[in-house]
This record gives sequence, structure tokens and C-alpha cells, in this order.
Amino acid sequence: MKIAFIGLGNMGGGMAANLVKAGHEVQAFDLAAEALAKAKENGCAVFTTVREAVQGVDAVVSMLPNGGIVKSVYEADVLGQAPAGALFLDCSTIDLATAREVGEAAKAAGYEMVDAPVSGGIAAANGGTLTFMVGGTEEAFARAQAVLEPMAKAVIHAGALGAGQVAKMCNNMLLAIHMIGTCEALALAEKAGLDMQKFYEISSKSTGYNWSLNDYTPAPGVGATSPADNGYQGGFASALMLKDLRLAMAGAQTAGANVPLGEHATKIYEAFNEAGNGGKDFGAIFTTL
Ligand code: NAD
Repeated sequence: MKIAFIGLGNMGGGMAANLVKAGHEVQAFDLAAEALAKAKENGCAVFTTVREAVQGVDAVVSMLPNGGIVKSVYEADVLGQAPAGALFLDCSTIDLATAREVGEAAKAAGYEMVDAPVSGGIAAANGGTLTFMVGGTEEAFARAQAVLEPMAKAVIHAGALGAGQVAKMCNNMLLAIHMIGTCEALALAEKAGLDMQKFYEISSKSTGYNWSLNDYTPAPGVGATSPADNGYQGGFASALMLKDLRLAMAGAQTAGANVPLGEHATKIYEAFNEAGNGGKDFGAIFTTL
């Protein structure tokens, strides 16, 4: 297939390279010259405008920072420019309302579009082991699978247009809540006189078990290896967690859902980011307790 790839940053760079490795012809565009140069090294054909990059393609994949950018790229330079029948896949994490709006605009212009945000970080993007949660029609999902497979460990049809973003925001809100809860339980155990490693051994096999505790233990030297063992470097940045929590809060407002713990988690990550910790792994909340 001939595939346009827009947004070749930390995530998109590796994803586009995996499409090339799978034998696709990738027509790449990014605003940053450095990102484009790297894409060229990885075998992509590079272009200086989105409009040129989408010429003659079967599919357009985007991996961009936010909803405003996704909307302006598609509305200004993809709709009406990509060939009729091309499939659009937006893999960025963006707000639900914009995902639905851009998908509807694509439909009105005669294209099929899916929202296909990912779980997994830069290592999974480079390694082709992302999990894609896809929103769109059955027919669009079937077409999207072929494009996403070389970048994926799993490709799951979440439901109608926007359902991928709903899955992503709910998953990451839950992740923030159980991470904070895990940090609190570890700190309380220690302050109340229980060795944290002992608490890990007990709770990871009891009803307190969860991914943050069992697989990503946020206390240094305790339980599973995680960025906590490396000064909270690498991993999933607190700034990105805050971005995802804000999207979940906007989504909750759109849906009229009550999310008191989600709101509280957002406030906690806001304060942590404002204190200059946005670059630290999100498990570093432990250090505030
Ligand atoms: P990034 O900032 O590294 O990359 C974004 C790229 O988009 C940059 O190279 C930038 O130059 C480019 N760009 C910005 N505006 C553009 C435009 N108008 N036209 C073309 N290119 C443009 O970000 P990232 O970490 O790769 O994240 C991308 C998306 O993936 C975000 O929505 C993020 O929330 C999501 N995500 C990131 C991670 C992660 O661990 N980094 C994990 C899951 C999901």
C-alpha cells in the first residue's frame, strides 16, 4: 500500500519505520526538519507539505500532539486532497468531541475515517507492539486492520467513531487513579512500620493487586522494576498523564459523567506538573507522599 504518515515525533517516527519494514511505500510529512531527515533514513519518501504527501495514497495515518492540530491538518490539507476512497486513521490521543467532528467531516467529504489511539510508549512504537483501540464502522475497521497490523501487538475494534478515544481516556484515567492509590498504600505501609517489599509481596497477591503495584511498582527498589529504580527517568511522563487526564475530564463533561476520583487525580497531577515535575515518570507521585 501507499500510505501518507503525518507527525513523525517520538511515536510516529518508529511507527512509520515499521510500515516501511512491512513493505509499504510511506510518504511522510512533519513540520520539523529533523524528524523528516530521520524518516528519510528509515526509508520513507519525504515531502514538504501535507498536500503533496497525501497524493496517490491508499491511507493517511496521523500521529499529532492534539485535537486542534489534527482538525486543522485534516480540514485544510487532507480532505479533498487525498484520493477518493483513501482511508484516514488518526492515532493521536485527542479529545472526543474533536475526534467525532473530524470523522464526520471526513464522512461528509466522502472518506472513511477511524480514531485509533494507542496504548504503549516509545519503545512499543519502535518495536511494533502498540495496542490500537479503534473507533469506526465495521467496514472501516476491517480496512484499518491491514494498515495497523505492522505497528501492533493488538488491534481492537472499540465501537463506533470516537469509541477509540473513549477507551483511551477511560483507561488512562483508571491508570492515574490506581497509580496514586498504589503510591499512597506503599507510603502508608512504610510509615505504619511495614516493610514496603513485604507489603508488595502480600498485596500483589491479595485484593489490592493492580498493574501499578504488580508490574510498575513506583517505590525505588521495591517489587517490579520500573522507572522508580532509575530516578523516575524514562517511562510515561507526568506531563503526558496530565494531558490524558484533562482529555478524560473534557470527555466526562461531554458525556455528563460523574468522575470525582478522576477530578482529584487531575488536580494531583496538575500540582505535580506545576512544581516542575512534568518530565518525570508518573509514578514519581510517590515522592510527594
Ligand atoms: P511528539 O511531540 O514527539 O511528536 C509530534 C510530532 O508532530 C512532532 O514531530 C511535530 O513536529 C509534529 N507536528 C506538530 N504539528 C504538526 C503539523 N501541523 N503537521 C505535521 N507535523 C506536525 O509527540 P509524541 O510523543 O510522538 O505523541 C504523539 C501523539 O501520541 C500524542 O497525541 C500523544 O498523546 C500520543 N501518545 C504518546 C505516547 C508517548 O509515550 N509519547 C504514548 C501514547 C500516545
